[in-house]
Amino acid sequence: MVQDDFRHHALLMVSGIARGRLVSARGNCSDNAGAVPLAGPAGDPPMKADRVAPETRLVHDADTGWGIVATPVYRASTVLFDNYAALKAGEEDPFDRSRLHYGRMGVPTTRALEDALAALDGSAGAVLSPSGLGAIADVLQCFLRPGDHLLMPDSCYGPTRSLCRGRLAGLGIKTTFYDPLCGAAIRDQLRLRTRMVFLESPGSATFEVQDVAAIAAVAREAGALTAIDNTWATPLLFNPLEHGVDLAIQSGTKYLNGHADVMFGVTTTADPDLYERLRRYVLGNGVHLAPDDAWLARRGLRTLAVRLAVHERAAYTLAEALAARPEVAKVLHPGLPDCPGHASFRRDFRGASGLFAIVLNGLDEAALARFVDGLELFGMGYSWGGFESLVLPMTPTRDLVGGRLAQGETLLRVHAGLEAVDDLLADLDAAFARAYR
Ligand SMILES: *Cc1c(COP(=O)(O)O)cnc(C)c1O
Repeated sequence: MVQDDFRHHALLMVSGIARGRLVSARGNCSDNAGAVPLAGPAGDPPMKADRVAPETRLVHDADTGWGIVATPVYRASTVLFDNYAALKAGEEDPFDRSRLHYGRMGVPTTRALEDALAALDGSAGAVLSPSGLGAIADVLQCFLRPGDHLLMPDSCYGPTRSLCRGRLAGLGIKTTFYDPLCGAAIRDQLRLRTRMVFLESPGSATFEVQDVAAIAAVAREAGALTAIDNTWATPLLFNPLEHGVDLAIQSGTKYLNGHADVMFGVTTTADPDLYERLRRYVLGNGVHLAPDDAWLARRGLRTLAVRLAVHERAAYTLAEALAARPEVAKVLHPGLPDCPGHASFRRDFRGASGLFAIVLNGLDEAALARFVDGLELFGMGYSWGGFESLVLPMTPTRDLVGGRLAQGETLLRVHAGLEAVDDLLADLDAAFARAYR
C-alpha cells in the first residue's frame, strides 16, 4: 500500500501534474520570475493562487519536485554553464531572473524567498536586502538623485532619520520631516523637486497611523514616488500596494523571519519597471542575502499568520491591562481608540501586531531602572518581532516641536511575545511594585 502510494506520487511528479507551485501562478512571477525549479524532476504546473488566502500561499509554495515539502538550502558561488552558447546567453543579461548565473545574483533558495514574499502582497516581485535598513537605503538611493527633495514622516525609524540627515544630505538630497497625521495636507509640503514621499505607519516608537491612501494619491498626482516602511503590519495586516503606494519595504528581521536569528529586508512593488530598476540597482551594487539566511527566513515565514495572531491577542491583553493602571499616562497602541490615527487603523488594517508603547507617570531614571532591571520574562534589547517578549525605554528624536509627544519624553516600547499572557502580566505587575514602591 505504502509502495503503491509512493509509485503513484512518483508518477505524478514525473508527468508534471503533481501539486502546483502556487507562487508561479501570479502573472509576472509565472512567466519568468518563478521559472528556476528548486530541484527534482517535476515541472509543476501553476495553480490558481488568487483562489487561496495569503496564509495558504505561505504554507504551500515550495514543492521540491521530490515530494519534500521544505525548501532546500543551496549555497553557491559558481554555477556551471552547459555550453558556450549558454555562457554567451548569460553574459548578455546576467540579471535575467529566468536563469541562474552566479551566486551573487541569487540561488534557488533566495528565489524561493523572493517568490513567497512577492506572492504575499500580490506584487510584481520582491527585492531582498541584508537588513531592513539596507532595504530602506537601497530604495532611497536607487530612486533619488542629487538635488531631489524627500518628504519623511517625523515619526520615522531612528536610523532612517540618520540616513537622511547624513548620507542623503551628503549626496545633495534634501529631506523635510512632516507631520505623519497630515493626510492630504501633505500637498502643502510638496516642492518642485519633491521626488519621493516616504511613509511609515504606524510610526516607530510613537505609533501614529497614517492616512496612506490620501498621501499616496497626492504624491501620485504630483509625480512623486511613494515608499512605505510596513514592518509593523506585514502585508497580512495591511497591504500598502492596495492603497496606492509604489514601494513597500519591510524589515524581515522582525515578523517575517520571526525567530530573532536572521537579519534581512525586502521591498516589493506592483510596478514591473520599478521592480526591475530596484533589483538591478541592488544586485549591481553586489548586495546579496546569504542562502542560509534566506532559508531560515523562508522557514520562519511558514508560520507568520499563526504567530501574528498570538502576538496580536497578547498585545491587546497587555495594552488594556496597562491602560487601566494609574501609573500609566498613555498607551500608544493603534487598536486603542485614543491612539493618534486610530480611525485610519480601523479603516485600513485587518488586525494589529504585537508592538506598542506606554508612557509612565512621574518616573525618574532610578525608578525606570528598577522597572526594567528586575523583569524576568521581558528582555531588554533592540529589534522585535521574534517569539520573545521585549521592552525598550526610548526617547524619540523629533524635528517638529510640539505635537503629541513632548520633546525628550521617555516611552517604554513593549513587544508581546508568544509566552502565556498571564505570565507576562505577572512580570509587569512585579515591575510596577518595584518602580513605584
Ligand atoms: C527594525 C526596523 C527597521 C530596520 O530593520 P533591520 O533589519 O534591523 O535593519 C526598519 N524599520 C522599522 C520600523 C524597524 O522596526
